[in-house]
Amino acid sequence: MSDSFQSIPGTFDILPHTQSTSADTVASTHAWQYVEETIRRVMHRHGVHEIRTPILEPTALIARGIGQLTDIVSKEMFAFERGSTQYVLRPEVTAPVMRAYLQHHLAQLGGVQRLYYIGPCFRAERPQKGRYRQFHQFGTEYIGADDARADAETILLAVDIYRELGLTDFTVRLNSLGTAASRTAYRTALQAYLRPLAGQLSETSRERLESNPLRILDTKSEAERGLLEGAPIMLDFIDEESAGHYGDVKKHLTAAGLAFEEDPFLVRGLDYYTRTAFEIDSPVLGAQTTLAGGGRYDLLAGEIGSKQDVPAVGFAAGMERLFLALESAGIELPKAGVPDVFVVTLGERAGDYAFPLMRAWRRAGLSTVYDLKGRSMKAQMREANRQEARCVVILGDAELDAGTAQLKHMDTGEQQSVALDDLTGILKTAYVPTPE
Ligand code: ATP
Ligand code: MG
Repeated sequence: MSDSFQSIPGTFDILPHTQSTSADTVASTHAWQYVEETIRRVMHRHGVHEIRTPILEPTALIARGIGQLTDIVSKEMFAFERGSTQYVLRPEVTAPVMRAYLQHHLAQLGGVQRLYYIGPCFRAERPQKGRYRQFHQFGTEYIGADDARADAETILLAVDIYRELGLTDFTVRLNSLGTAASRTAYRTALQAYLRPLAGQLSETSRERLESNPLRILDTKSEAERGLLEGAPIMLDFIDEESAGHYGDVKKHLTAAGLAFEEDPFLVRGLDYYTRTAFEIDSPVLGAQTTLAGGGRYDLLAGEIGSKQDVPAVGFAAGMERLFLALESAGIELPKAGVPDVFVVTLGERAGDYAFPLMRAWRRAGLSTVYDLKGRSMKAQMREANRQEARCVVILGDAELDAGTAQLKHMDTGEQQSVALDDLTGILKTAYVPTPE
């Protein structure tokens, strides 16, 4: 082991090539860019615009916005103080986006704001496959929308991104959490049901029984799942309007041909959700099965200081879990793009001659590379092959004296001698992509 620095456990570098260890795989920057471009393309099709908010936010925004009793606030926040300001590295992006919406009075623009983000989030969790301390989320927020079509569209948008990437093996689970009032009534009923069973609950669940009993529904323990079999069902407690809204969401999803499962025990980790809640799971993910989660959060704006009600719905999805699912599904992601031209030069004179020429080629749109280490012709050719260059230009003293260069087209293997004056034109014709 060397003394040099290592990245912090639970964080990782993304390199130009895929890194595979026995424990984990990190996709290449090219694969990340491809996935990000796919996300942006699907967002664009839905008329959703990108928003970028700071990594640093005031701690109170997160603590108030997502609820004091959530795991994130109680134990996963990277928060610190400097002077009299409390900072947090954002653990999620919904509260920041709502903050920005309120701060910039985006409601005044009229209509619904359809926003999306892609970027890093931070949570002090125990690092493991699919669970990191710095990870990346993408997601949408439709702010100002109470129409059930917004809920359905949010789910379908996430699904479209997965499908566009070639993923087909996932399930959508759906529930309705009603309003704050129906949740309080349900909470009381659930506590009444679970209190006599407290002895059989895990320590965490026993703590949650008084603080946040809905989270017990989320349990992964088989024994606890068994205990929950006779538990009251949230849907029996929701108000008529929420029930109507839920029915409409299901109607739109069905009209769109999306298969989904109703899961009466689906709750979301955060306190601000009302009505629609959903998760998208991938069976290939193993322990960390959730690709994305979301729902309606009509209470968030009020929670962080808005005087007006701001209905909103959105989803958040993990990038790393998406890469895991793509890997398990055997979906190949693009590698680095290949250079158009690899220039092999022999000697200083040829190197100097080629330098400004290559600049002109690059400005003309040709991806042009060369060896910076003054290696042998053989080594340069090997490098051109390794990089899968589309053609190789060979320049040495003899060629310069003759006013020519050797041009080798790598797809056919054909090699020709070309006058230097014609070279740029030939390369442009052969290798600059013509606009469609
Ligand atoms: P989990 O139940 O897996 O802890 P969560 O309910 O905390 O998830 P959300 O807050 O809903 O997750 O975040 C949305 C998505 O972000 C998750 O579905 C998951 O794909 C991803 N995600 C959450 N936490 C992490 C993490 N620590 N590392 C990697 N991805 C994460
Ligand atoms: Mg979590």
